Amino acid sequence: MLGALRQIVNDVADAGSFREALNVLVVDVQEALGTEVCSIYLINRARDRFLFAANEGLNQDYIGQFTLAIDEGLVGLVAERAQPINLKNALDHPRFRYLPQIGEEPFHAFLGVPIIHHRNVLGVLVVQQREERRFDESEEAFLVTLAAQLATLIAHAAATGEVVALTSGDVPRENQVYRGVGGSPGIAIGTAVIVHPLADLNAVPERETDNIIQELLIFDVAVEAVRADIRRISEQFGGSLPAEELALFDVYLHMLDDTAIPGDVRDRIRLGQWAQGALKQVIREHLRTFEQMEDPYLKERGADVKDLGLRVLVYLQDSRQKKQFFPENTILIGEDVTPGMLANIPSEKLAGIVALRGSGNSHVAILARSLGVPAVMGALDVPLYAVENSVVVVDGFYGEVNVHPSKRVLDQYRELIAEEEEFVAELETLRDLPSETTDGARVRLWVNIGLAGDITRSLDRGAEGIGLFRTEVPFMTKDRFPTEEEQRQIYRDHMTAFEPRPVTMRTLDIGGDKALSYFPIEEDNPFLGWRGIRVTLDHPEIFLIQTRAMIKANAGLRGLLRIMLPMISGVAEVEEATRLIMRAHQEVCEEGLDVKRPQIGVMIEVPAAVYQARALARRVDFLAVGSNDLTQYMLAVDRNNPRVANLYKEVHPAVLQALREVAQAGHAEGKPVGICGEFAGTPFGAVLLIGMGYDVLSMNATNLPRIKWVIRNMSMARARRMVAKVLKMDDPARIEEFMQQELIDAGLGRVVPRHHE
Ligand code: PEP
Ligand code: MG
Repeated sequence: MLGALRQIVNDVADAGSFREALNVLVVDVQEALGTEVCSIYLINRARDRFLFAANEGLNQDYIGQFTLAIDEGLVGLVAERAQPINLKNALDHPRFRYLPQIGEEPFHAFLGVPIIHHRNVLGVLVVQQREERRFDESEEAFLVTLAAQLATLIAHAAATGEVVALTSGDVPRENQVYRGVGGSPGIAIGTAVIVHPLADLNAVPERETDNIIQELLIFDVAVEAVRADIRRISEQFGGSLPAEELALFDVYLHMLDDTAIPGDVRDRIRLGQWAQGALKQVIREHLRTFEQMEDPYLKERGADVKDLGLRVLVYLQDSRQKKQFFPENTILIGEDVTPGMLANIPSEKLAGIVALRGSGNSHVAILARSLGVPAVMGALDVPLYAVENSVVVVDGFYGEVNVHPSKRVLDQYRELIAEEEEFVAELETLRDLPSETTDGARVRLWVNIGLAGDITRSLDRGAEGIGLFRTEVPFMTKDRFPTEEEQRQIYRDHMTAFEPRPVTMRTLDIGGDKALSYFPIEEDNPFLGWRGIRVTLDHPEIFLIQTRAMIKANAGLRGLLRIMLPMISGVAEVEEATRLIMRAHQEVCEEGLDVKRPQIGVMIEVPAAVYQARALARRVDFLAVGSNDLTQYMLAVDRNNPRVANLYKEVHPAVLQALREVAQAGHAEGKPVGICGEFAGTPFGAVLLIGMGYDVLSMNATNLPRIKWVIRNMSMARARRMVAKVLKMDDPARIEEFMQQELIDAGLGRVVPRHHE
């Protein structure tokens, strides 16, 4: 069964269009189960009716024509119950509806399973048979599994209008709206540029080309380059390898003969596919052939085909990259958008980001916020192959992407952008004014920093200190650990730029979703694994070099150095880290430098630290909440997983209770409490946090002026009242509604994002 299932999923994936995919599917299922009929009914939401979308075994003339009301017949019952219905004789069932046109009457046995995506029924997959019998459990399980796997394909098609197009023949182009989550606030209108990870055949998107000659040429150059490489390697090893090993290179060269792989790829290019896509298709087909071979030696040759494919791909991508063109207002769209991809595009060209994976608190979303570029994350259904070069609106407030917006929608968005720009210009006047509530309470607004360029942006926006320096970013841009001196210089640049303001340096926080290419950590469960302080305490040499560099960088400056420890889950870690920092300090003093003892603080990022906040506070100089991780660990919601992004809520009552407890615990020990998670930079978060008594809010530079505006227009008394009310509520949705209304009532409606109509 598993083999049949795989085969069907592969055949469907290889189909050239949605319509063809459905046709392939019904034929394959009918064959695999040996039934006489297989049909797919899809829901057309615009009409609220089922469409007879594909079939094998009934009257084919009605495909794409015949429709059923949403509550009609057995198909309607399957959708209503969102459960399979398995009947020995469908004709006896009260919900059976006799439909003379499509010719169902001779078929008695009926099995219908719903196709469900994100809790929504999209359609029904049906098999039928003449003989009166119940389908057995394994047949039912097979169909349920298949329907679950197909749901994504159908959801894509529903979103792109291809389901509707099955009737009308046209894919509606205007206003295709895809949902994700807001990754970085703001609205951008621009042209889609698709990005994908390099040297990964599976990641290559299908793309049509209108310049076949050029694609053929690029392909030939790449193949020739690989041939030359292989000849060179073969000559190099000529003397040292046995003859049978050397013969392998000949096999490679044969595979690259014009009549072999390259011939097939050229045929695909001539049909209009770009070179990389054609290569991917051909290599996939060859791999499948090899996988099916019985002979283990031949089976192994699949690896050679893959290797060759990759070699050619690298050259193809190289030639592309050199002349990658980014239009004005580029909207970067990719399955995964990585910080490295952002670095490849001139910043003045980048208008917006859309990632199919990831979530609002993924690293790239955090970077987008600090660059002030609107981003939507986890927009799983965006059809990458179909949006290239299209006009796209990225609504980072609402987490929506609109492809081919109509003129009316564009006008509405342009109006929102103009209002936003006006507001930003107004905010510039606040730069040198204090962040103080209307009843005179001072709140310290600091910045989170990591990217080069962040320093000027932060100072321009009136940051009063650095609340979080993500030191892993300079580590990520190297191909080995940076030396003490290299680190010292980077830290010093920040400290002198901010002098005499306080600078909070976090010790290296790798693991989880933050990897160093030269120090790979492979784990099944990385967010619960070797992360943050756990790594650096196991490698005291890395920790000592880093903290020595921080302490040295502060030499002779008036600004306060605060060293902050990530991922602390117990007091022993703090004691050990403190001992090492003291040793680093002493060593630097012994080298004759005039350095102050740094302050030491703990990040509260895991639930254990919330419950031990007082014990931790007693041992250090300050506490700082990392609400991004704290929310993830309290709610057991992966901060990068779009499937659960709707559950990731900092306003969840459990998170809010924890935040209040940390503030109280720190203050009970007489220690200042800050927060440097993204929540601090949101209007709801800032108001609730000051009401809870947080001393420092640290956020990205982009959000800082708007949060200052909120604070300057809000009284501490009112913020406290809101906290008291919110802490009595038990549903995050209610809390959001309440906060939204409160901000509007307080005259702060401008920071409550508005949707276009
Ligand atoms: C946090 O977890 O809230 C935090 C500030 O750290 P990071 O986002 O870098 O994990
Ligand atoms: Mg964290």
